[in-house]
Amino acid sequence: MSDATPVQPRNAFSLATPYRDVTCGELRAGDAGRQLRMAGWVHRRRDLGHLIFIDLRDRYGITQIVVDRDEAPEAHAAASRSRPEFVVSVEGKVTERLPGTHNPSLETGDVEVRATRVEILSEAQTPPFYINEPDAPVDEAVRLRYRYLDIRREPMRDRLLLRSALVRAIRDAHHRAGFVEIETPILIKSTPEGARDFIVPSRLQPGTVYALPQSPQQLKQLLMVAGMDRYFQIARCFRDEDLRGDRQPEFTQLDLEMSFVQEQTVMDFVEAMAIEVSRTVLPERPLLTVPFPRFTYEEAMERFGSDKPDIRFGMELVDLAPVLRAGGEGTGFRVFDEVLEVGGRVKGIVAPGMGGATRREIDELTAFARRYGARGLVHVSSDADGAVHSPVAKFLGEERLSAMLRAAAAGPGDLLLVVADDPAVTADVLGRLRSELGERLGLADPAVLAYCWVYRFPMYQWDADNHRWDATHNPFSGVVPEDEPLLVTASGDPYRPAPDDPAGRARAMQYDIALNGWELGGGSVRIHRRELLERSFALQGYSKERMHGLFGGMLEAFDFGAPPHGGIALGIDRWAALLADQTNIREVMAFPKTSSGTDLMLDAPSAPDPAQYEELGLRYVGPAPAAGAAGAATGTGPGGTAGGGAA
Ligand code: ASP
Repeated sequence: MSDATPVQPRNAFSLATPYRDVTCGELRAGDAGRQLRMAGWVHRRRDLGHLIFIDLRDRYGITQIVVDRDEAPEAHAAASRSRPEFVVSVEGKVTERLPGTHNPSLETGDVEVRATRVEILSEAQTPPFYINEPDAPVDEAVRLRYRYLDIRREPMRDRLLLRSALVRAIRDAHHRAGFVEIETPILIKSTPEGARDFIVPSRLQPGTVYALPQSPQQLKQLLMVAGMDRYFQIARCFRDEDLRGDRQPEFTQLDLEMSFVQEQTVMDFVEAMAIEVSRTVLPERPLLTVPFPRFTYEEAMERFGSDKPDIRFGMELVDLAPVLRAGGEGTGFRVFDEVLEVGGRVKGIVAPGMGGATRREIDELTAFARRYGARGLVHVSSDADGAVHSPVAKFLGEERLSAMLRAAAAGPGDLLLVVADDPAVTADVLGRLRSELGERLGLADPAVLAYCWVYRFPMYQWDADNHRWDATHNPFSGVVPEDEPLLVTASGDPYRPAPDDPAGRARAMQYDIALNGWELGGGSVRIHRRELLERSFALQGYSKERMHGLFGGMLEAFDFGAPPHGGIALGIDRWAALLADQTNIREVMAFPKTSSGTDLMLDAPSAPDPAQYEELGLRYVGPAPAAGAAGAATGTGPGGTAGGGAA
C-alpha cells in the first residue's frame, strides 16, 4: 500500500483489512456506487487495448475489474503490466454491469469495479499449470510439488473448506455433549494399533527413543481414569506402514472416549453426532437410513460378506445349501457336496441384468474370485426368455438350477454367481464381488450417505505363526459380559494360549462405523479391571515382563479406580474424502505425502545433517539413502534441506 497511515479495520473480526474493504466474493448489485479497495490474484486478464478486464480472485470468489485508459491512465499502465497470478490491489467504484453483460456463473456477476488505481503487490512467474482451469488434468506429482498453487485452484480450495466445516461441526457437537478437547503428546511410548511405530531418538537420554502415537489410545483411557469423563481430540496419528492407495504415514482421527458407558451409549452419541455433522456440512446429501442400521459382525458377514458393507444397494448373499439339499440326497455336484460336508458354505449373489455376460467377462470375474482365495466361481444365468444356462447344468440338472435362481430371486436376464468354500473365504469373496459389481453396475446412488454399524466382533483370532490370540481390533477391547468366562485357555494358564482355547469364541464389545462401503471408524468399550486386562494381554501373547514394559503405566493406573469406559476413533481424512466424493484421501489433505512417503514440496524425508547424527549418538549403517534424500542432503533437491533448512 502506498498509503502511509495504516487504516484500522472497522471490526477486527471482519474480513476488511488495510488492503481491502471487501473480498472478491462479496459485491452484489446493491453495492453499486461504493468506492472501495480490493486485493487478490489476477485470475484472468483480457486486454482490449484501451480497456483491460481483470478477474480478481481470492479465497472467497472472483470480481471483474475494468481498467479504462482514458479514466485512469496510471492504473491502466499497471494493469497492462500484470500477468496471471500477480497479486494486485485495486481501488475503484462499483458499477452495475450493462444489460447483457451480467455473468450468472459468478456470484458477483451483476457488478464490476471500475478501477481508479491498480498497484502490483507481487509478481508471479508463469505457473506450471493453469490455476484458472480447474478441470484441466495435471499430473499429481506436479500438483504435490506445487501444492500451494494447486490449493489456489477451485477444487482443492473447496475440499479444504469442506474439511474445515467438517471439523468445526464435529467440535460443535462434542462441546454441546459435554466433551472436553484435550491434546495428548506426540512424543510418547509405543501404543500398538497393529502397525510399525515411527520412532524419535532422544538426545537427552542417549540410546532411547520416543514413539509417535499410532493413536492416543492409552492416553485417552488414562484421561478417563483421571475423571475427565468425556474427552475428544482431532488427533494426528502416525503409522509406519507400506503405503497403499488411501494410506498416509500421518493422518487425522476424531478420537473420543467416554466414561460410565456401554456399547450402545457410545454408538448412540457417535450416530447422533454423525447425523448432525453430515446435515450441517452437506445439507443437500440425503442420509439413506436414520437411525443407522446395526448389524452384528456375524449378520454383516452373512448378508454382505463384509464388515463395512455398502448398504446403498441390495445384492445380498444368499445361502444356497437349503435348495441344493432339498431332495434329501446330495446336491449332485461333487464340489458342492464336499464343501458342505466339512462345514463349508455354498452361497451366491445375483448380478442384475448380467445374464448375457460374455465368456470373457465370466473368466474375468472368476479370476477376480480366485485372486481372493476362492477355488472357483460357478455361474448360473437366465436369459431374457427365462431359459437357464450353466456350465454345471449336467451335474445339477435344470430343476435344481431353477430352484437356485428362485431362491436367489434372480429374474430373467440376471446372473447368479456362486462360491463354495470354507465360510470365511465364501463370505469374503462374495463380499468383494458384491462391491465390485455394485460399482461396475452403478447400483449405489453417489449422492446418498449410507452409514451403518457393525458390532460384536470376535475378540481374537488365532495367530498360528506366533502361537497367540491376536486382538481382532483393539488390544484394550472389553469382552461382552456374558462371554467373560470364555476369556481363558484350555490349560488354565493364560500365558499358554492354544488354538482350541475357549477365548477363541469370545465376542468383543467392539463396534465399527461404515460409510458407503468404507470403514469410517472403530472403537470399543474397554476392559477397566487390571486383572482381566492382564489376562487378555497374556492371551495376546504378552509375557509378564513385556506387558509391564509396554503398558505398566496403564496397568498401574487401573489400581487407582478406573471407571467403565469406552470410545472410538473416526478417520477425518476418510470422512472428508467421502463427503467430497473423492476416492483418495490425498485430495482432502493440504500437504499429503506420495505413496512412497515423500513430501515433494519440502523434499522430505531427507538425509540429516551429520552433526544431528552425532548429537544423537547415531550412525547410519544401512544401504545408500534413496536418490531424493541424497539430493536433499547435498542441497540440490527442490527446496534443498542441507543444514536442516526446510525440514
Ligand atoms: N484407538 C483405536 C484406533 O485408532 C480406536 C479406538 O478404539 O478408540 O483405531
